[in-house]
Amino acid sequence: EVAVIGSVNLDLVARVRAFPRPGETVTDATLDRHPGGKGGNQAIAIRRLGANVRLVACVGNDSTADEALAGLAREGVILDHVQRIDGAATGTAMIAVDGNGENQIVVAPGANRLFTPERLVLPACDVVIAQLEVPMDTLEAAARAHPGFFCLNAAPARPVSPALLADVDLLVVNEIEAEAIGPNLDNFNGWLAVTYGASGAELMRHGNWVASSDAPRVDAIDTVGAGDAFTAALAFGLGSGQSPDVALNRACTAGALATTRAGAQSSPTLEALEQFLAR
Ligand code: ADP
Repeated sequence: EVAVIGSVNLDLVARVRAFPRPGETVTDATLDRHPGGKGGNQAIAIRRLGANVRLVACVGNDSTADEALAGLAREGVILDHVQRIDGAATGTAMIAVDGNGENQIVVAPGANRLFTPERLVLPACDVVIAQLEVPMDTLEAAARAHPGFFCLNAAPARPVSPALLADVDLLVVNEIEAEAIGPNLDNFNGWLAVTYGASGAELMRHGNWVASSDAPRVDAIDTVGAGDAFTAALAFGLGSGQSPDVALNRACTAGALATTRAGAQSSPTLEALEQFLAR
């Protein structure tokens, strides 16, 4: 049993030839709508690995929520701990992608930002996974209250409070996120996983090296979602007793496979992961 505490967004992706300058209008965009938010994305990633997953999140009482939650329901993520807040807007990310594949992103967190500690109801579960798209004090309360394994993916990059770090068993960061945490990382006592994109990842504990793994070579078409797939596989693996070597290798493979598919909800199923590892 896994609970994911985090954000739910609707991603509105506009593709344009060139970004507008301030004050300018461009009218050549095509629009796609995808469910997103790191909470939702990681819930799907873990669900695809075969776990029972409950999402603990806040959305608005609006049609955006229906759209954002439909994909989660279809994947089999349990939504009975998703609260609808009257009068709030469901989190929305407005993403513009230009002809060179560069992006500009504006996020309106809406209900995700209203997910205060008073709204937190933590279900009984073995493993909790969280990210930094909901308020820090809510995560602190969750980590304090959860007796089992607590994983924090410290994304997007921002400082993490020492109170939260003290209750984290597994911290997953890329190099930019590690830098944003700064010197507090030196006192961190749990497992620390640092990802290096196509170069794989390392696992450390108390400042000591535990394991490292290359990422398999793949035809990467879209690296969005790699970190979510990696975090899900590593937290699920370490939380369910896999050895550090095995869990890290599987996580790197899951991250790599996610880059071979477009979009944020691109993580592999257990079957696809096993099949790739057995090749
Ligand atoms: P984030 O998306 O959070 O920045 P990374 O880019 O470091 O995270 O990716 C997480 C993991 O996904 C890496 O450790 C690696 O295993 C895998 N990965 C990411 N990019 C590639 C790539 N281009 N080729 C192969 N594996 C990749």
